[in-house]
Amino acid sequence: VADLTGKIVLITAAAQGIGRASAEAFARAGAKVIATDINAPLLAELDAVPNVTTRVLDVLSTDAVNQAVAEIGHIDVLFNCAGVVHGGTVLEMSDDDLDFALALNVKAQIRTIKAVLPQMLERQDGAIINMATVASSVKGVPNRAAYTISKAAVVGLTKSIAADYTTQGIRVNAICPGTVDSPSLHQRWHATGDFEAARKAFIARQPIGRIARPDEVADLAVYLAGATYTTGQVHIIDGGWTA
Ligand code: NAD
Repeated sequence: VADLTGKIVLITAAAQGIGRASAEAFARAGAKVIATDINAPLLAELDAVPNVTTRVLDVLSTDAVNQAVAEIGHIDVLFNCAGVVHGGTVLEMSDDDLDFALALNVKAQIRTIKAVLPQMLERQDGAIINMATVASSVKGVPNRAAYTISKAAVVGLTKSIAADYTTQGIRVNAICPGTVDSPSLHQRWHATGDFEAARKAFIARQPIGRIARPDEVADLAVYLAGATYTTGQVHIIDGGWTA
């Protein structure tokens, strides 16, 4: 794996879950991490981690994203981790749910990429990692219409950027986890009304016998940041769910 010492890594949605584990993993790998999120108090906990600086950033705001990137300056690696999960089938999906899923899961990634890509192209060097999921172009998952539609678009976005910019030193990859232990997953289990039954059902669909830890997905993000011959690909990390 390539040496990430001193590489500057911008991570969105880093206050909790996979984003937070990634901020810690990139920092352990020697990178200089700019960890961003809208949850200021939770994000501030990362200030204690060596090699991490934090910055409140709402990826739904073009002005805020452009300003952050201008102020940060040089960015070697962009990890687009922000995302939201909506429940429901296509018939149950409201226009508002779909709009919000597309806004946070897809358009926010496009926004950060548009902000960072010009400087990466100037240097002919940059790595972009987009958070997708197997509930995308990879696999249909019940009751995840808006999520699956939006995350399939993340795969399309990833392929499109690879097709246009690989010849100019840009590598871009998508990560597709199965189920990962995170605060929002626990919220979804609570929302079913029977936390324990939901937890068991989610574990039962993972052939490996458990759900993923955030640090396991974070390690894949660190790998992809330094994987110098990999681009335009979907990287599945799902405990055998789609095997
Ligand atoms: P999470 O859902 O628990 O946390 C999400 C974070 O995003 C929070 O810290 C929140 O404050 C932040 N956020 C929300 N809106 C934001 C905005 N506008 N700007 C900046 N930050 C914002 O974390 P998670 O479950 O680890 O999910 C992280 C990513 O991984 C998401 O894209 C999700 O779709 C994807 N993913 C998660 C799982 C899973 O099972 N947990 C599986 C596959 C993919």
